[in-house]
Amino acid sequence: MSVIVRFAPSPTGYLHIGNARPALINWLFALKHGGEFVLRYDDTDRERSRAEYAEAIAEDLGWLGIHPHRVERQSERISVYDAAAEKLKAQGLIYPCYEMPDELERRRRRARALGRPPVYDRAGLRLTDEERGKLEAQGRKPHWRFLLPNFSDDPFTTERTEVHWDDLCRGPQTVDLASLSDPVLIRADGSYLYTFPSILDDIDMGVSHVIRGEDHIANTGVQIAIFRALGAEPPKFAHHNLLTTADGEGLSKRSGALSLRALREDGLEPMAVASLAVLTGTSHAIEPVTTLRELADMLDLAGISRSSAKFDPADLKPLNAKLVHGMDHAVVADRLRELGIEGDAAFWEAVRENCETVGDALGWWKVVTGPVEPQVGDEDRDFIALARVNLPQEPWSEETWSEWTKLLKEKTGRKGRGLFMPLRKAVTGLDHGPDMKRFLPVIGRRNTLARLS
Ligand code: GLU
Repeated sequence: MSVIVRFAPSPTGYLHIGNARPALINWLFALKHGGEFVLRYDDTDRERSRAEYAEAIAEDLGWLGIHPHRVERQSERISVYDAAAEKLKAQGLIYPCYEMPDELERRRRRARALGRPPVYDRAGLRLTDEERGKLEAQGRKPHWRFLLPNFSDDPFTTERTEVHWDDLCRGPQTVDLASLSDPVLIRADGSYLYTFPSILDDIDMGVSHVIRGEDHIANTGVQIAIFRALGAEPPKFAHHNLLTTADGEGLSKRSGALSLRALREDGLEPMAVASLAVLTGTSHAIEPVTTLRELADMLDLAGISRSSAKFDPADLKPLNAKLVHGMDHAVVADRLRELGIEGDAAFWEAVRENCETVGDALGWWKVVTGPVEPQVGDEDRDFIALARVNLPQEPWSEETWSEWTKLLKEKTGRKGRGLFMPLRKAVTGLDHGPDMKRFLPVIGRRNTLARLS
């Protein structure tokens, strides 16, 4: 079977790290199985959906390394949904209901008070043509419910009807359709709730695996029943745990700071974000993985934990730093140039371990090129003057620092911190920074000499 997955965001805001999880898991699953990934905008909510968010979603996915094979918009497929709805009406599989929300709420409360499950009683199904005509004459518009197949002959006498699926994350699942209300598929204003278009699209687009957050698990039993009513074999389902912050808070409220764009602006690497978004709440330790291909090889849907995937946003920076420390110059060369850094591989290799983000290299480049305010305490003035006259001649290499400091040690008897720190502070203007063995030749003799005077 060919693998086709989909990621179906509503373009009503920017993607955050919590949305990156289903997007990436779907993409990695497709990558692992040589399948296809459909980006499908759930944009039937015209008021809240915005074109700029749709664009931003595609851009943010691209930044993560997700390049959809196909892009679809539900707003362009309304005629498909209309045609399918007409068919279901003709078959009696969906039926009109006229209750107002407050009426439904009152009924639910009454059922609960009587100790009964708050399941819709199919009152709409009992209406005669005449009663319907009257309601419509009063200007009432119906919403449409799907008649769940949870009875033999009489829809008012439901019986236990199990729907099973083998969830690729959570194992065997069972839902009793008799415990559920007939789902509303079409609102009174004629617009569609997410369920119906989603199923029709999954069928039309040949989706083989629906991989999504566990917040959708309650919908799946109903959706399987609708797939079957439409004569389609349901896809396979996988419901992964959701990312939450350490205190268990969902991410929607924090989406600003943890939006993919904010993380990108903070200089985080897409692979740091991807590693954290995918590996949190799995059997793998959280480590910076360097390519999506490698991450795809690590993906095991059954290995995703059933409890929530708690993470600490503060873990992103150290994860990013680890990734940056291991980056080859070739990987970052273009980005360094864009930052205005003219340094070559020797520069990058000297400073990368002192960078949390690639952008941090700019600070070190400024230390190389200057101007630098040398830090020389009164007690070190003579020592620095001596260091100046003993500065080795060119050519410089990684041996130069040890040649120079060895010589100064012999001449002054200084050692350890008392020997190295005054030199570092004079040459770089800082009391911390890259290993001088590598950094000194990058700074070069001319700059060094100027800072020692
Ligand atoms: N728009 C839905 C969501 O983002 C899609 C759910 C699904 O994948 O079926 O939650």
